[in-house]
Amino acid sequence: MEGNQQITSKRQLKLIQAVKANDDSVENSLATTSRNLQIINHQDKDESNNDYTYVGHLEDFFENEMGAYHVGNEVSNASIVRHFCSQMKTDDAFYIVDLSYFVKRYLQWLHYLPRVKPYYAVKCNPNKFIIKTLAHQDIGFDCASAEELDLVLATCPSINCEKKIIYSHPCKPISHIKYFRQHHVQMTVIDNEDELFKIKEHWSDAKVLLRLKITKNGNSMSTKFGANQYQIIKLLKLAKQLNINLVGCSFHVGSQCSDRNLYEQTLQFARKIFDLATTEECGGFKFTILNIGGGFPVQFSEVAEMIQDMIDKLFPEEEGIQLMSEPGRYFTSESTMLICNIIARRTHNKDYSSEEEEEVECHTRITKEEDEKDLIRKADILYYINDGIYGTFNAIIFDQKLFYVNYMRKYMKKEEEQEYKSVIFGPTCDGIDCISNSISLPLLNIGDYLWFSNVGSYTNSCATSFNGFKTKKYFFIWRS
Ligand SMILES: *Cc1c(COP(=O)(O)O)cnc(C)c1O
Repeated sequence: MEGNQQITSKRQLKLIQAVKANDDSVENSLATTSRNLQIINHQDKDESNNDYTYVGHLEDFFENEMGAYHVGNEVSNASIVRHFCSQMKTDDAFYIVDLSYFVKRYLQWLHYLPRVKPYYAVKCNPNKFIIKTLAHQDIGFDCASAEELDLVLATCPSINCEKKIIYSHPCKPISHIKYFRQHHVQMTVIDNEDELFKIKEHWSDAKVLLRLKITKNGNSMSTKFGANQYQIIKLLKLAKQLNINLVGCSFHVGSQCSDRNLYEQTLQFARKIFDLATTEECGGFKFTILNIGGGFPVQFSEVAEMIQDMIDKLFPEEEGIQLMSEPGRYFTSESTMLICNIIARRTHNKDYSSEEEEEVECHTRITKEEDEKDLIRKADILYYINDGIYGTFNAIIFDQKLFYVNYMRKYMKKEEEQEYKSVIFGPTCDGIDCISNSISLPLLNIGDYLWFSNVGSYTNSCATSFNGFKTKKYFFIWRS
């Protein structure tokens, strides 16, 4: 099991970093502020509050339709967390979601990329409250499976599928193709010949985009999806023969991309294909749609300005090309906080490590850093909280996410200076369920809280309910 161990230790080394404990009393607000500032220093600045992102006129929607509480812009996250902790009747973990954040992000999008229509990539966080809030703003959806389509339909029964939903997956099960067609979705994506034949047979009236391969300086960045120029030319010719309605190109640069060269090279590639497609030899298609995919970073403004510049040069407005996109993370990442309870703990941990163990450890250890078991053995305190690697913290593995932890005491207490080497385990019976193997925290009690902000993307969407633990409770807030 050598290989497994390596993967494990790689994962564990990427755990929670840059920890700063947070406020544990609302009264003690000076301390709160200074501590909060320390946390904010570790993170990037919040771009979501600007003149053009004011959402006060949506009060009725947020409060009466969505059941969200209004929170003043000056109120700290710590006091919001404390408020909802006091409302919880059980010791379950829960989320707090700022619904206004989704709208503010949309307004920010319009500000920076007014020509590009966003279709929210449902996979990023497939929750009804997000879909409802975005649909209320008339935003469309990128669904990649029949189940995602069902979720959107169940949430917005009167949605116009022709205009508002795209089936943006290049490799589709035939049953799903039929399902999307039945629901009058019009647009999809392909990147290979077999997919063209499938479309011909099962969805012959679809509007089809060609998914471009992402390459940088000639090296391919994605091995899973996308067609290179040679393949695209073959696809254009075949589509002509099959009488498929090709309408444009799409691409997806990958997650959190702020690489100017990558955007530049991909947009230039798209331009080239738009021009090639019109030639007699390649079928004489008149392309009208360019879908620039998702992968926009949370820190959006600079990347957006750069993209806007490039599309204005390569696809000038006068040409009338429609621009679409599929942002996921952009809309959700900073919207959500997770609040966990310390459900169990083991103190004086290292005092009991036996001599035998110490010896064995000397033989197996590679370096001190690499041996996570060693770290755990030598920690002072082990905490067990009620969400873990099989839940929200799966993002440590699947999304290489760094979490920032804040603590909050249930009963206020004078701040103690001493910190202990601590370990945070998730709630399941599996040893792999370790969130952090070496973190400094003051002594916390059972019933105290650990909370984490910016957990809105690729967290609950990939979480399991393994061993009977899954965070299901949501509270909603909005800020004007
Ligand atoms: C996952 C995905 C998205 C969304 O990506 P984000 O990084 O969340 O913006 C958009 N388009 C496609 C094709 C995807 O696979």
